[in-house]
Amino acid sequence: MMATANGGSTAPTLATTPQRYGLALFSIATAFGLARIFLYFHLPQPFAAFALSAIAITFWYGGTKAGIVATVLASIVRYSFETGVGTIAFAFYDLTFVVFAVLMSMVTRARDDLEERITERTAELTHANEGLRLEIAERKQAEYLIGQVFECSPDGISIIGPDYRYRRVNPVYERNWGMPAEKIVGMHVSDLLGKEVFEEKLKRNLDRCFAGEDVRYSDWFTDVLGRRRYLSLSYSPLRPTSHDVEAALVINHDLTNHMLDSEKLRQAQSDLARISRVTTMGELTASLAHEVNQPIAAAITNANTCVRWLAREYPDVEEAREAALRTVKDANRAAEIIGHIRQLFSKGNAQRELVDMNEVIREMHVMLRNEANRYSVSIRIDCAADLPRIMADRVQLQQVLMNLMLNGIDAMKAVNAHRELAIRSQQVDDGTLQISISDTGTGLPPHDVEQIFSAFFTTKEHGTGMGLSISRSIVESHGGRLWADNNSPRGATFCFTLPAKDEAHA
Ligand code: ADP
Repeated sequence: MMATANGGSTAPTLATTPQRYGLALFSIATAFGLARIFLYFHLPQPFAAFALSAIAITFWYGGTKAGIVATVLASIVRYSFETGVGTIAFAFYDLTFVVFAVLMSMVTRARDDLEERITERTAELTHANEGLRLEIAERKQAEYLIGQVFECSPDGISIIGPDYRYRRVNPVYERNWGMPAEKIVGMHVSDLLGKEVFEEKLKRNLDRCFAGEDVRYSDWFTDVLGRRRYLSLSYSPLRPTSHDVEAALVINHDLTNHMLDSEKLRQAQSDLARISRVTTMGELTASLAHEVNQPIAAAITNANTCVRWLAREYPDVEEAREAALRTVKDANRAAEIIGHIRQLFSKGNAQRELVDMNEVIREMHVMLRNEANRYSVSIRIDCAADLPRIMADRVQLQQVLMNLMLNGIDAMKAVNAHRELAIRSQQVDDGTLQISISDTGTGLPPHDVEQIFSAFFTTKEHGTGMGLSISRSIVESHGGRLWADNNSPRGATFCFTLPAKDEAHA
């Protein structure tokens, strides 16, 4: 039986010591027997040849020690054949056996080394093989998962090469563009999405992705069936084999419904804002008119009485004086009622908190975007980056901005030229915030600019004339100023200031 050593290798050396020494004994005995048979038949005496073979076999299968034993045994046995041979011949025989034994031990050692190396290498290869097998299994699983994501994703996914041609698209992409994948793959992006869209929107972003950048953006697109879609796109660089970007992974998430819903919501918000503004103003005006009407009517009656007392043949100055005093009292009451309206926006009623004016501007932009779009007005926002927050009544400031922005939009409705509403925030020298709202509309009514800030002054058919008056009250109650100027060549700019935190507190 052959030994199995070193983790399963098949070395030819026998496994146990008795087997190995037994082999030495057996092989030399066989050599002896054969030599005897040859002698019996008077054949040339070949013991040396048989002995060397036996030594070789023992070395090979029994190892070095058993081989040496076989060599010694062969030398002993040889005496029974080599009678009458001289000492030198004996010595020569022994030397031959010894040299042969040394050579055989070297050969078996070389063989053992080789076997050991083969065994080690085999173990390494087995290990590597196992690793490879695991890696392949993992890759297969990863490929399966990626395939599933690609095939089952609710988003449109495509892989685009640096030649702007499709390499792979998923079923959603096919559905979105109404074309089978086989037809899309190989197509140039501009052939599917149109040259204009490609040049204006896609190429620039794809090039950034091929340069190694992750790109995200959202925009409206028109598909082959002419449907408008709002897509949120993400371009990720793919580098499967090298450092260079070999393709772009494009994922487009369809936000059309979401966008339409939020547009509707914004529209509703803006309509509501407008309605509530008009309603509030209307209610305010109605109640003001009602309240003021009584003292004015009384003042007129008293003034008439006064005139009548004075128009008598003998004027009754005392009665006239009484009537005139009552007229003054009535007029004062009317003035008090109007003053009361101003108090509504005074400091005492305000809900002060820390307000970021840039945030208020952005909120109003979102709220009035639809209103502006409806009249083809573009809104430009230019906010100073490090604007300090101020203590103010957020809702009142929203109202001021909304009034000024809606007035700007109103002023541009009749203008047949570029319509732009520019809103700018900045910090002026002493830390005061200055907000300006510029339009390219008709400009302020001629003559006295200040009249527009008076209550009830309006040039609009359904105007209340209260917006600017209330806005000025609010700004002044915050310790700021509100004024207006005409622009050159056209339009008007409304500016208001708001003092830094501490002053606003005062
Ligand atoms: P209303 O908007 O109801 O008329 P306002 O007090 O807000 O009340 O405005 C008063 C008047 O000031 C307007 O009727 C209009 O004549 C003038 N005005 C306000 N804003 C502008 C503007 N941006 N451009 C030209 N005129 C304006």
